[in-house]
Amino acid sequence: MFADDTLIFLKALVQNSRNLVHLLNPYCNASGQQVNFSKSTLYFSSNTPGNICEEICGVFSMSEVDDPRKYLGLPTIWGRAKCESLLYIKERILLKIQGWKQQLLSQASHEVLIKAVAQAVPQYPMNIFLFPKSEYDHIHGRAPSSSLVIDPKIWKLVWSLEAPPKICNFLWKALRNCLATKENMFRRKISSSPICPICCNEIETVEHMLLLCTWVAPIWFGGQLNMRIDKFSISTFANLLLTTIGNLPCSPIDSCRTISIIAFTCWHIWKLRCKISFEQSRPSPDIAIRESQIAYAEFTNAQIHKNVIHRPPPQNISPTQRWMPPCNDFVKVNVDASWKQGMDVASVGVIIRGVDGSFRAGFSGPTNASSLIEAETLAILEGYKFALHEGLNNVIIESDSRKAISSVHGSIARRSWQLYPLLKTIQ
Ligand SMILES: [Zn+2]
Repeated sequence: MFADDTLIFLKALVQNSRNLVHLLNPYCNASGQQVNFSKSTLYFSSNTPGNICEEICGVFSMSEVDDPRKYLGLPTIWGRAKCESLLYIKERILLKIQGWKQQLLSQASHEVLIKAVAQAVPQYPMNIFLFPKSEYDHIHGRAPSSSLVIDPKIWKLVWSLEAPPKICNFLWKALRNCLATKENMFRRKISSSPICPICCNEIETVEHMLLLCTWVAPIWFGGQLNMRIDKFSISTFANLLLTTIGNLPCSPIDSCRTISIIAFTCWHIWKLRCKISFEQSRPSPDIAIRESQIAYAEFTNAQIHKNVIHRPPPQNISPTQRWMPPCNDFVKVNVDASWKQGMDVASVGVIIRGVDGSFRAGFSGPTNASSLIEAETLAILEGYKFALHEGLNNVIIESDSRKAISSVHGSIARRSWQLYPLLKTIQ
């Protein structure tokens, strides 16, 4: 028969020890239980004189230990250095997390493991001891996350999105740089290269994948928001969202709507990008635009039916930026350019849409230009060329650069000499 382990505390006096032995003996005789002295130890506080320790050890016929070690998984000696005493908990959590084959686990299963196993490790000691706050933070910090600091405004928007949880979660991961981009997979030694599998030109960061890769520019440009992504001014994905909201001359409801559309677009870019990499097929901006528009419309319609959202159907950001359809038998070619001062590099984007606003074709790519007006004029030329290449004759070219348009329309004498060859080609 076994009884639970017992801890007995005594003042270190020989007489006390003898009294205890006198109490234990009749108890053992009466109950039939035995004290296993070979498995029991004595521990003395540091100020107990050596001769007393020896004498007491003799009374009990037990050996003395310097460190009583752990009892039921907890340290018996709990000094002032709590963090040091709790070191073993951190080590155990780390051991568990490192043991998992992380690359084989999906994000969801990883989270479940963290919650079910790693966070359960300190449960028992936490019931008994008051943990120092630093220790608590450290243990919770073991959950997968990055140290990116994101504007609280963005967080508020992400969690108030008009989007299903999977899309909110996706946007959150994009903002925290937790997506399985080539760059991230390369850093974790899961992928052999960090280069974008679609353009094979640049490192695939979150920003490259969702905003900057050559095939996504027409998606932003041709989508509901008519967004022009300026390659040279983008630092992070979070910054793009912040500037987008900052530029909106509208209410919080509109910023929520805009970010929701951005989130839907990003989600469909991601979905399509994964499909393209798996199936080695050609990227189609058209599909991403159409699918994200349908998905957003369906979601908001469902919400209106549920009486969650009470407001008119979505409108474009501002009337000045709203896309107007061309007249019958024509297609509209929207062109745009961004230019980087000092480096003489630019990028141009072209998108062609029909009367009903449906996407017909589009592309974007880098070019050389010595000024913004040159880049904008080049974009107009590229728009013409692209329309001709697509076999389209009745086209209306639309540019947001008034200067470029007036250069094309103006008298040849007043045009700048740098633009002359370009304008000549356009004519
Ligand atoms: Zn790319």
